[in-house]
Amino acid sequence: MCKTCNGTGGINIAHSWGVSFHPCPDTNCNRNKDDVLGEAIEILEGKLREMEEKRRLSA
Ligand SMILES: [Zn+2]
Repeated sequence: MCKTCNGTGGINIAHSWGVSFHPCPDTNCNRNKDDVLGEAIEILEGKLREMEEKRRLSA
């Protein structure tokens, strides 16, 4: 398993505005970058929906 990304194919970096996804920079990483990016976008969209929901509730 890739040690850089723990086999997830990328790294999520937390910012004040949310989370950004960066494909694993490790050249030995065996995850398919396109697959991983698709998955990451789904996860990010879910997180964004969650955040919007929280913002709506706290408003
Ligand atoms: Zn990796």
